[in-house]
Amino acid sequence: MSTLFPNYARRPVHLVEGKGTIVTDNNGKEYLDFTSGIAVLSLGHAHPAIVEAIQRQSEKLWHTSNLFESPEQEKLASSLIKETHFAHAFFCNSGAEANEAAIKLARKHTGKHVIITFENSFHGRTFGAMSATGQEKVRNGFGPLLETFRTVPFNDIEKLGAAIDESVGAIMLEIIQGEGGVNQITPAFTRAIADICKSKGILLIVDEVQTGIGRTGTRYAFEQTVLQPDIITLAKGLGGGFPIGAMLGTSELHDTFGPGTHGTTFGGNPLAVAVAQAVLDNIFTNEFLFAINEKSSYFMDKLKEALPAYKIVGSGLILGIICPDEVAPYITQAEQAGLLLVAAGPNVIRLLPPLTVTTQEINQAINIIASILRVPSMLQVPGTRNII
Ligand SMILES: *Cc1c(COP(=O)(O)O)cnc(C)c1O
Repeated sequence: MSTLFPNYARRPVHLVEGKGTIVTDNNGKEYLDFTSGIAVLSLGHAHPAIVEAIQRQSEKLWHTSNLFESPEQEKLASSLIKETHFAHAFFCNSGAEANEAAIKLARKHTGKHVIITFENSFHGRTFGAMSATGQEKVRNGFGPLLETFRTVPFNDIEKLGAAIDESVGAIMLEIIQGEGGVNQITPAFTRAIADICKSKGILLIVDEVQTGIGRTGTRYAFEQTVLQPDIITLAKGLGGGFPIGAMLGTSELHDTFGPGTHGTTFGGNPLAVAVAQAVLDNIFTNEFLFAINEKSSYFMDKLKEALPAYKIVGSGLILGIICPDEVAPYITQAEQAGLLLVAAGPNVIRLLPPLTVTTQEINQAINIIASILRVPSMLQVPGTRNII
């Protein structure tokens, strides 16, 4: 019996090494990693800039706590808010923690306790973030949950309007619901939200834990919409594999989080900040972001060509293949053929390659996916052939 709690449905693959998009298991078999550790390895495995940042900082200073000033955190915050309407950052260690900070900040700032969230959203596993999450399977068995959240169908303008009253302080959403099925927000819904927030003085929190840091082809996904969030939350891709989360907010929110109101011991420690700075220095350049968009268009076009019967959704390098049936068997077949994939909900294959993926790797992945989806799964002979 395992010494671990069985709270993850782990696949029987033991990965021991990674470089770029390729990972190797303990038998020496290679895979293309199109999960990126769930949108985390933005620069791929063992990127030289990250390896260098960790080595350099680990010999200097790992941790200080937030008792002392930190020009390094200031610099990282500047890189995150540069050319945005945000003024301040708070650093933590994960997406759920970034969302907790956002929920606390919004409640304290508005003095109102209701936050609207959406069906099929995912915001994390802590009590606040879990209560915000619009998926029964995440919440089941843990009640009573925080009463703060009012869950409304995603992209439903009428239902959203009906849910708004004087007690609502904030609306919290994802631009693309990553865990919930690669569901994109509609332009009409973003306009409705922008109007409601403006006319009622409601705060907007955008959870960019999965979509942020270049994943959708811009630094943040909200930049492709009319939305001007008061708060965004980040984690996953920000550390490129090292745990770090962040919350960005506007100058209006500055005084709400005075000394002693919120904090975390590890948040923004020198090691994490050095790594995240290396990640941003590489990703937040016009050339890098442009290349993501080029690769995304190529990937989309080739997928549509190879799989004309399937609907392809998403943006940048978070793409989804919507399948008429459960995708779990396809994911197992892809793994056997040397391609690691992750589902989004029961019927969507999610494609999350490192942002450094090459067109050659995209071609290899499409060949494997097409060979699996084109043939009814009954006819597939499970094999362990290494296609790479
Ligand atoms: C993964 C995810 C979270 C939770 O992040 P953790 O680091 O696992 O706490 C929150 N929101 C979104 C949109 C996510 O994809």
